[in-house]
Amino acid sequence: MSPDRYRDVLAAHGLDRVPSLDAAIEVVAGLRGRPVEVGAADLGDSVWGMWLGLPESDQIVVNTSSIVSDRHREHVVAHELMHVLDAHIDPERAGTCAMRTHFDDPTERRVEVLASELMLVISAHRGLRGRLDSFLRP
Ligand SMILES: [Zn+2]
Repeated sequence: MSPDRYRDVLAAHGLDRVPSLDAAIEVVAGLRGRPVEVGAADLGDSVWGMWLGLPESDQIVVNTSSIVSDRHREHVVAHELMHVLDAHIDPERAGTCAMRTHFDDPTERRVEVLASELMLVISAHRGLRGRLDSFLRP
């Protein structure tokens, strides 16, 4: 898929204008019709995060022992959130548990590009807000 196609996927699900990661989580929870909860746990050193599709909720777990910064944490949450979106778009395609390790896997590549696009949407919003703030409060 071209970058435009990925942006179209975000737009088709109301994720091309979200101002924050929390807002994106709300949108995906709305699509799924169930909560998407983000937690943290020590998962050892082989993964950055994981997604668990439970019967009543989606759980995103960030690995406390491999996260290096807030920005990294946000990217990991965005990546796992795009696994949830992917499962919503095509339930056949996704497993119930996704570990972030195999970038040679087509699902992992697709999800990673979607996550990068989503973070661009959010950073663009942050950049705009920053410029407005400095304009309004010089
Ligand atoms: Zn993944």
